[in-house]
Amino acid sequence: VRLARYSIDGVVGLGLITDSEDGVVAIEKHLPAAPSDVLELIARWDDLRPELEALARRPADFRLGAVRLLAPVPRPGKMLAMAMNYADHVAEVIEAGIPVPDCQVWFSKAATAANGPFDPISLPRVSDRLDYEAELVIVIGKPCRYATREQAADAIFGYCVGNDVSVRDWQTRTSQWMLGKSFDSHGPHGPWIVTKDAVDPMTLDLTCTVNGEVRQSSNTRHLISDPIAEVEYLSQAMTLEPGDLLFTGTPGGCGCVRRPPTFLKVGDVVRVTIGGLGSIENQVVAD
Ligand code: MG
Repeated sequence: VRLARYSIDGVVGLGLITDSEDGVVAIEKHLPAAPSDVLELIARWDDLRPELEALARRPADFRLGAVRLLAPVPRPGKMLAMAMNYADHVAEVIEAGIPVPDCQVWFSKAATAANGPFDPISLPRVSDRLDYEAELVIVIGKPCRYATREQAADAIFGYCVGNDVSVRDWQTRTSQWMLGKSFDSHGPHGPWIVTKDAVDPMTLDLTCTVNGEVRQSSNTRHLISDPIAEVEYLSQAMTLEPGDLLFTGTPGGCGCVRRPPTFLKVGDVVRVTIGGLGSIENQVVAD
């Protein structure tokens, strides 16, 4: 099942994307008792699952082209991101002289950075070092703490496409990366959430293009820590909650490691595609 947030004629709704990926079934219209808040809907998913799965097979209420797709989780409780989780990217990082610990490295992106799948991303007033990072994103479905591997797998709701947009000078001028990863609009994700039963997260082609030119091309089988291991590890420190977004790391090819470094400019169009999950596309605008 593919869960989307959309707006049409100024009204925001939650919907299910049809199998042909050209229509939206409006949940509220057919299941008025379902929560209209995406965090609540995710939390109650197991209870409503039979109805929602039946709904996903109905004819569309709207053509996909007629709606605007919004951030599936516009205000996640937490947005965390893993660094150095693809071997080719780790090699680039070592070459750049950055020490690589042998445990998972996590940082926080501010929840206010969450952004829609087709909304603009801003070039900050205070930097010209704007960069892309194509990433698989895990969406948490159930609270978990000290999760076993089995419990971690069960706590995952689904997956979507993300871009861990980064402001490199702000990221690296201190040892904490948070500010450089947390600018407004720098957490675009979507275009919808694919529930975990519908996808094997370790087999997905992932690409990033800038103005149509391929900059990153990999497959999630090259992830060093798999999504379940990531949830398991994080849950040792904190309670993960429904709607939390976990960016799983980016492969090689970011603008900052190109020779010469190539940063995003106003007008550039960044597109991230993950096989089976869809694409997000964001244009750079001046802040
Ligand atoms: Mg990243």
